[in-house]
Amino acid sequence: MNKVVILVHGGAGRRNPSRRGLRTLRETLERGFSILEEGGRALDAVEETIRILEDDETFNAGRGSRLQLDGVARMDASIMEGKTLQAGAVASIQGIKNPISAARLVMEKTPHVLMVGERAARFGVSLGLETGNVATPSTRKELEQGLRSQKEIIQIYNTSFGRTSRFSGSPAGGETVGAVALDREGNLAAGSSTGGSALMLPGRVGDTPIVGSGVYADNQVGAVSSTGMGESIIRVVLAKEICTTMEKGFSPLKASRRSLERMAKRVGGTAGVITLRRDGRFALVHNSEYMGGGVQVEGRKPVVNSHWLNG
Ligand code: ASP
Repeated sequence: MNKVVILVHGGAGRRNPSRRGLRTLRETLERGFSILEEGGRALDAVEETIRILEDDETFNAGRGSRLQLDGVARMDASIMEGKTLQAGAVASIQGIKNPISAARLVMEKTPHVLMVGERAARFGVSLGLETGNVATPSTRKELEQGLRSQKEIIQIYNTSFGRTSRFSGSPAGGETVGAVALDREGNLAAGSSTGGSALMLPGRVGDTPIVGSGVYADNQVGAVSSTGMGESIIRVVLAKEICTTMEKGFSPLKASRRSLERMAKRVGGTAGVITLRRDGRFALVHNSEYMGGGVQVEGRKPVVNSHWLNG
């Protein structure tokens, strides 16, 4: 019987996580941990943790999701379990209260891994998922402030997304949510949920629903959940890259650092990861200014912070 462990993150970015955000992370961590402590599955702890964060509008996921340039919140989420490498993900879905549960339904109720858009949302609703209005006054304000004129939109199209190959990143960044867990049976799981980056083109999808980039879980190695600039994370397949590096014998900290360094060198960009190895060793690493996150290991007190080891 191994010790249970859970890690959560509340997004890597330039914004210092608010006190409220850190408090919610702590409460969420404790909730996820209690599921594991009582013998629950890593998958359930990850889903439940992310659902709570999706319901708190402080975070850029579920209720607090950012709006794309046309004023619509299109959300991405994924979940993976390490025993059989089953995974489920949804991308660009609207109006679903808890996208992480939609991802889990894709994993458990379909032969597929990724479903997108309206059909994915309808599928979730048909299986009983709650709907919800996800535009909040603060996400509206963020969009309005970001788009003071049509000229600016054209500029964003051209400079951030169009002619240059490097994504310049969101002005604020952060608040995507994710979790990884190890249960008593030795099963690992990873999950992530986001409203994406600020001022995105309508239809843009980041790393979060891309298995291997936003999440990865393999009982033979470890589990990772990523956050940060999706356009960079996808190009180095960050979560799987970290698992592969751990498989070569590197510690969670070294593997996470190396992979983030490699990403920064090859494609630029900032990101953060929560990494858990199958033996319960873990790391929270980011090369962004902040990453709200926390960890609870059985027999130890939970720790929540807004800075971790920089990658
Ligand atoms: N990785 C997310 C995305 O690119 C955003 C984030 O983690 O802040 O959609």
